Amino acid sequence: MANIILKCLQVGYLPTNCYILACSKTMEGMIIDPGILVGEEDRLIHTIDDLKVSLKFIVNTHGHPDHTSGNRAIKNHTHAQILVHELDAPLLVEPWLGTGDFGALQEPHRCPVCGRDEMLRLDVEDNRARMIADCGAVLIDAEVSPPADRTLRDGERIEFGCVTLEVLHTPGHTRGGISLYCEKEGMIFTGDTLFDGSWGRTDLPGSSEQKMIDSLNRLGCLPGQTTVYPGHGGHTAIGKEKKANPYM
Ligand SMILES: [Zn+2]
Ligand SMILES: [Zn+2]
Repeated sequence: MANIILKCLQVGYLPTNCYILACSKTMEGMIIDPGILVGEEDRLIHTIDDLKVSLKFIVNTHGHPDHTSGNRAIKNHTHAQILVHELDAPLLVEPWLGTGDFGALQEPHRCPVCGRDEMLRLDVEDNRARMIADCGAVLIDAEVSPPADRTLRDGERIEFGCVTLEVLHTPGHTRGGISLYCEKEGMIFTGDTLFDGSWGRTDLPGSSEQKMIDSLNRLGCLPGQTTVYPGHGGHTAIGKEKKANPYM
């Protein structure tokens, strides 16, 4: 990784892995999934400034608010372009799209704050998308993103300095989920498609179990030594996941 600067910051409530990636020669770079909590933006901005990265792109692996909530703050500071797959672009500006009139989700979920099964309510207020449990715990409080500056499709390339990332459309968790593959460096950013030892949920609006299986299958064709940087949790490798994952 001599030509690449890679920094992972854990941000937000879940937490989410936010990656800053830059070419060590030109110091041009991008940020992947700045899914910050309100108030965390300074930490990201200071990191970008300390690294002296000239940020070209903000790329979201998919449109969920825990991956997009820092888009506005980072764009305001750096004027970087926001990139997302065309099928998830609507989610940036309407984060609860498909969940039905901002009503409660269909089934109770275990609340990480009170530990009970609680109904979750979704709303948007003052340009902030919120998920609130019955007990009052605010589980997501995410600034709504500006619209995408450029939408992505499978096979497109994102280039900055000496770094090239290929866009692999890996739907299943959402319709427009992508993985970002850097063949030269043997690394891939998989968002909420592939995790260390598991894969993303397929019970959400826009999810598809069959598409997830197809996407995992596709990732399984990459070289085994490729390092996997997921949207949550620790990093892993394609070869390691292939041994454990029946869909790869
Ligand atoms: Zn997600
Ligand atoms: Zn996520």
